[in-house]
Amino acid sequence: MKKYHLRYGRGNYGICPQCGRRSFVFYVDRSNKKINRYVGRCNYSNDCRYHYRPRDYFADCSSRMATQENTVENPDMDNMPF
Ligand SMILES: [Zn+2]
Repeated sequence: MKKYHLRYGRGNYGICPQCGRRSFVFYVDRSNKKINRYVGRCNYSNDCRYHYRPRDYFADCSSRMATQENTVENPDMDNMPF
């Protein structure tokens, strides 16, 4: 069972952060709680294609926290082979 899922249904749509339409489907956890108002998928995927997955969101959060804690430099970046 997935921890997060898209919550479809009437009255559940939010404003898409990208196109501004009220066609945004949020990811929610098992207690039906939104992760963030940016985490979800635009139902107008034909022309908008906005899709922010929970794992991407949490990856972004942890990398943001890492850069805040370690503001001097990122040693992983310096060791890039190219
Ligand atoms: Zn959109």
